[in-house]
Amino acid sequence: MISESTLADTVRRLRQAERATLAQAMTLIESQHPRHQTLSTQLLDAIMPFTGNALRLGITGTPGAGKSTFLEAFGTRLIRDGLRVAVIAVDPSSPISGGSILGDKTRMTELARSDAAFIRPAPSRGHLGGACLHARELGLLCEAAGFDVVIIETVGVGQSETEIAQIVDCFVSLQIAGGGDDLQGIKKGIMEMADVIVINKDDGENHNRVAIARHMYESALHIVRHKYAEWQPQVLTCSALEKRGIDEVWQTICDFRTQMTSSGRLQQVRQLQEIAWLQKQTEAEALRLLFSRDDFDRYYHLTQQAVKNNRLSPRAGLQRISEYLQNHYFA
Ligand code: GDP
Repeated sequence: MISESTLADTVRRLRQAERATLAQAMTLIESQHPRHQTLSTQLLDAIMPFTGNALRLGITGTPGAGKSTFLEAFGTRLIRDGLRVAVIAVDPSSPISGGSILGDKTRMTELARSDAAFIRPAPSRGHLGGACLHARELGLLCEAAGFDVVIIETVGVGQSETEIAQIVDCFVSLQIAGGGDDLQGIKKGIMEMADVIVINKDDGENHNRVAIARHMYESALHIVRHKYAEWQPQVLTCSALEKRGIDEVWQTICDFRTQMTSSGRLQQVRQLQEIAWLQKQTEAEALRLLFSRDDFDRYYHLTQQAVKNNRLSPRAGLQRISEYLQNHYFA
């Protein structure tokens, strides 16, 4: 087990890419125990100089889009190039289902067997601050352990896409062609966030539908504001099952990285992400501390009740809460 006295040793073992140490460090980061959280902060501080070199990749898609199949083909392709690949699968549904539906190694058998790969499911457990609260830090551990590409995978539902986009360098949205109603499936958010859109299952009888979908995505991309002046989001197609089109996806991601690095934009994006992370967590922490005060919690719930019973308008309720805060905490 990792402790204060073994911290330096843990860092050394991590840097030697010891898998057991990496797994232990991840468990520590995910622990809610206050002592473990303090240790986690120390560990993250200690590894910080050894992070930042990996390509941080986010991949989302609806269940069944072929994420696991794609990651198996994509990951093994990178490993053949001599790269080391980590996959962190964030499962935003886990608070409800209680189990992890992502990061299931049985669907990435070849990748899971490889010494150059590390796959880790990261159940979100409904954390305040979102599913990706820990994914970012688990990714940093992988970077310290020398992984070249760190992939954060999640289901494309709710807030998870926005959250993933805020912790990776390159955001890949895996899509499939629908039955002619693709336009409905094109979410504006995706078009604004994705750096690369990959339409999977471009095989057999799907081919025409995929071509139509590709055209629709390309047209839709023309009417949304782009994230970066230096990058025009690309739409690609592949068949993860038949392992076709995977090279092109990787090449496009490499082009993205080159553009973003040479312009200095990547460094800027990472800085902004860290600041955004700090702000979001500060807000969450401030709220947690506030509601842990019995007096405030009681006052808030009394006000809430009054709003519910139409005795106060929400606006008047807010004013009361604001006055309470000013008198009791900020006087
Ligand atoms: P996930 O839920 O997004 O991880 O999707 P999976 O990788 O588990 O794939 C869901 C289903 O789609 C499985 O039955 C796969 O075999 C199938 N599938 C995945 N990729 C392809 C593909 O490129 N072509 C075809 N035809 N089927 C695919």
